[in-house]
Order: sequence, then structure tokens, then C-alpha cells
Amino acid sequence: MCDSLTGDDAAPPALSYQSTPNNGQQCGGCQYYVPDQNGDGMGACTLIAGQIDPEGWCISYAVYNG
Ligand code: SF4
Repeated sequence: MCDSLTGDDAAPPALSYQSTPNNGQQCGGCQYYVPDQNGDGMGACTLIAGQIDPEGWCISYAVYNG
């Protein structure tokens, strides 16, 4: 079994992850985002398992204040 977050039907329902930005907010600017490590353009999230699109978004979005 192979889970993917890229399909519309595969989003984790708890956090309502989507692969598109929401009103200018996106994973790439979120404090929980882990940047791409292997060059495939997909990062990760400390809250959600699987590959995370830097242009994605979820309801747990929190601005990184660095
Ligand atoms: S918490 Fe949500 S918005 Fe933030 S990186 Fe993870 S999936 Fe993206």
C-alpha cells in the first residue's frame, strides 16, 4: 500500500491538507514545514506524514517567525 498526498482523495481529513496555497499562506512559509531534502521539490511537515508540497496548505498553518 502506498499513500500519497497528491491526490484529491488522499488528503488527511484531520488537518484538511490541500496541495494549493490558501490566501497567500503556504507550507513553504509555515513553521512546521521541512524543506526539500532530496531535490524532488517536495518537502515534509512535522505534523503530517508523507510528502508535502511547498505550495500546499492545511488548517494548522502557522507563520514561521524565525
Ligand atoms: S502544518 Fe500544514 S501548512 Fe504547515 S507545513 Fe504542515 S501541512 Fe503545510
